[in-house]
Amino acid sequence: MTSAPPRVLTVAGSDSGGGAGIQADLKTMLALGVHGMSVITAVTAQNSLGVQGAWELPAEAVRAQYRAVVDDIGVQAVKTGMLASAELVRTVAGLLAGTDAPVVVDPVGVSKHGDALLAESALDSVRTRLLPCATVATPNLDEVAQLTGVVAEDEDGMRRGAAAVLEYGPRWVLVKGGHLPGDAAVDLLTDGTEERWLRAPRLANRHTHGTGCTLASAIASGLAKGHDVPTAVATAKKYVTGAITAGFPLGSGIGPVDHGR
Ligand code: PLP
Repeated sequence: MTSAPPRVLTVAGSDSGGGAGIQADLKTMLALGVHGMSVITAVTAQNSLGVQGAWELPAEAVRAQYRAVVDDIGVQAVKTGMLASAELVRTVAGLLAGTDAPVVVDPVGVSKHGDALLAESALDSVRTRLLPCATVATPNLDEVAQLTGVVAEDEDGMRRGAAAVLEYGPRWVLVKGGHLPGDAAVDLLTDGTEERWLRAPRLANRHTHGTGCTLASAIASGLAKGHDVPTAVATAKKYVTGAITAGFPLGSGIGPVDHGR
């Protein structure tokens, strides 16, 4: 009998096209050698062209999935993604308040195609209920602007955005600067004391669907293995850079990142 791998739980939405959301999370976890489990918050009808429809699950179904997993199997790390509504944000935050496992919060707002994955009315619950549960929060620059009002246009702006997110209580924040112009994709990881800049070459590949989900899941996988936050984030950044390099066309729009074939 072999021993069980570390267990990681994703609390997120389903992407029927298999590129982002729960599907990207579980593929990342498989590739990184942890046991992936899921609490589905919403079902999207989605493909390479965007989100055609989204239906959130009742809070009771979210609570029941979470309890089923945590009370029997246990978790060494949790990742949250699309939470859809204020009610689900509050439900998930209430569940996470009771865990000792590290929590990676990807405060998903809007997809690359511009589809809203979180109601405007949920923003306040993300700030005051969800972010305080986070070991690491992973906003991109649009999410930093949405959550804090800080519009970052350069590295100094990223620093101000990171400080504003930390005010809400996550232990660490990883501000993803991939949308800034320049030759490198630059992210800032900080806990308010330490500051680490992570730089990767900008990749020409446009098939990047699921990048954010993949990065957050890779961080959670590293934390579940017992890595500290800077190590888990640096390893995850390498993983996602490789996954984007190998991203492939699918359908007639934006294809997914690749988790290794
Ligand atoms: N669909 C779901 C269910 C997601 O959770 C996310 C991102 O978190 C997306 C779509 C957006 O993916 P992308 O912006 O990488 O295209």
